[in-house]
Amino acid sequence: MENALTPLEEVRSNIARACKAARRKSDDITLIAVSKTHPAETIEPLLEQGQRVFGENRVQEAEAKWPELRARYPDVELHLIGQLQSNKADEAVALFDSIHSLDRMSLLNALAKAMDKAGRRVPCFIQVNVGDEDQKGGCSLSELPDLLAAARAADIPIAGLMCIPPFDIEPAPFFALLAKLAADNGLSGLSMGMSSDYETAVMLGATHVRVGTALFGKRGA
Ligand SMILES: *Cc1c(COP(=O)(O)O)cnc(C)c1O
Repeated sequence: MENALTPLEEVRSNIARACKAARRKSDDITLIAVSKTHPAETIEPLLEQGQRVFGENRVQEAEAKWPELRARYPDVELHLIGQLQSNKADEAVALFDSIHSLDRMSLLNALAKAMDKAGRRVPCFIQVNVGDEDQKGGCSLSELPDLLAAARAADIPIAGLMCIPPFDIEPAPFFALLAKLAADNGLSGLSMGMSSDYETAVMLGATHVRVGTALFGKRGA
């Protein structure tokens, strides 16, 4: 067992392999360790191994967990990857370094207000509902241009686009679609790929992969 890789090393090495295959540099990929539902004790080993970028999907859970961890690891970067209610915009802007779920005008206005109030601009990804699914977050393809224009007008820094493809079908075409939308709009950031498909996402241009299960094991297990 002495040569066994930790889950973190394994994910990093898979990302490096996908980068090599796609002739990309590993440095261009940010691995977001999705620590939602996991307690501080589970997160610490990753911090000790040098991981600094983490993702949470609930403002309240992150507020409860991260201030203490951050006091000890001040260079942690926290990404909000879950849906955000407009009435939590102030908290989200105070806590997170990046927000991946900007997907509608009402939230955009709330975030702009929150950023003005806090005197802090938090880079956002616009989430696109690439599979056109009913209950999924994300704007439709046709809403994207207006959201981008409104973000620019409100001085919200847009890091790129984010998607969660339909779970029961090959994700590659959806990743390719998101990459094309980003390129068409002059955006460089692509938040796509989870535990089951992050290598595919990297090969199709992901700059941010959001990996939970492959690093922490099954949630609620
Ligand atoms: C939970 C979650 C992930 C991580 O999913 P895994 O399959 O556990 O890697 C990624 N992105 C979002 C938006 C999530 O909610």
